[in-house]
Amino acid sequence: MDHLSLEILEYIEEHSSETYELLLNLGTIPAPSNQEEKRAEFCRDWLVRQGAENVYIDSALNVVYPIGCTRDNPVVVFMAHTDVVFPDTTPLPVVVEAGRIKAPGIGDDTANLCTLLMCAKYIADKKITPADCGLLLVANAGEEGLGNLKGSRQIVKEYEGRIREFYSIDGYMDHITTDAVGSKRYEVEVLTEGGHSFTNFGNRNAIAYLASMIDTLYTLKVPQTKTKTTYNVGTIQGGTSVNTIAQQAKMLYEFRSDSREDLEFMDLHFRAVAESYRSKQVEVNTILVGERPCSSGVDPVKQDRITSKVTEILKKHTGTEPKNQCGSTDCNIPLSQGIPSVCFGAVRGGGAHTRQEWVDIASLKEGYRVTFELILSCF
Ligand SMILES: [Zn+2]
Repeated sequence: MDHLSLEILEYIEEHSSETYELLLNLGTIPAPSNQEEKRAEFCRDWLVRQGAENVYIDSALNVVYPIGCTRDNPVVVFMAHTDVVFPDTTPLPVVVEAGRIKAPGIGDDTANLCTLLMCAKYIADKKITPADCGLLLVANAGEEGLGNLKGSRQIVKEYEGRIREFYSIDGYMDHITTDAVGSKRYEVEVLTEGGHSFTNFGNRNAIAYLASMIDTLYTLKVPQTKTKTTYNVGTIQGGTSVNTIAQQAKMLYEFRSDSREDLEFMDLHFRAVAESYRSKQVEVNTILVGERPCSSGVDPVKQDRITSKVTEILKKHTGTEPKNQCGSTDCNIPLSQGIPSVCFGAVRGGGAHTRQEWVDIASLKEGYRVTFELILSCF
């Protein structure tokens, strides 16, 4: 098939007001990570109305549209995530102003998801099946924060051994991600006997110990290898009142690296610090609340092939060559299992992860062309 025939360009053109309405509608539906039910149901019902067959919602709240998948044929996965970083469970405000659509999550990842849905509609309309593989179009859950990539994990597990290529449509058009930044996230709780600030002065204070532990963690020099390694204490809380020696304090701590070895080094260091505070007879509880693996064992030739393919298509439709970078995306899971993967964006915008997030309406058309060409290249 000519990957972007006149017929397809016309299809995108003819459906432009429908796609615009879809984006505005979808943008209002709240979808905090791990609570994506409403968006998932909307996507499933919408797909079914377009004539898509065999659509299902799996246990991770992914909406899956399999096309031409048999019991065991190889599959190519395309996904875009439904979840938004904000905890809102009431409709999200969507405002159109000065050539932009503004809404929390509108670029990350609603606009990208719309390109996937419209291409799904095209495939259902035309009743076409890929040439030599199955295709999975997925509106996936759990990409953000403590969603911990659960949607991507579920797909990679369910189709284990069968995924030939994996694409996540996420972020903006100016870059692609082909290498995984791994991370670990811990909740750390310190407990002491505490007491009255005057009467029990001298008792151990959980806040003082946690603060000291943070100070120790921040003395670490990260590995000075070619890769990048970072750490951060993101939140801290604890204590009871101004006249109470704190019995409890906790924090969220994370570290990231694009090298597996350096990530392991960070973990050893963190665990050694926690252990050293335990030996001071304070209680230290650590819970692993998030883990994203690094790349491992991806065939460089196969990876280069799909990296170039996505780069060329983006360049063709946007006029600029996307920067290639590493990052933490839904591709971390397939990349950690040796599956060639690329994360790319199909929209221009800004302010991701803020309530002022926006997308450029003029960029939407280019985005549809990019997604359609890439998905339809499987046919
Ligand atoms: Zn995203």
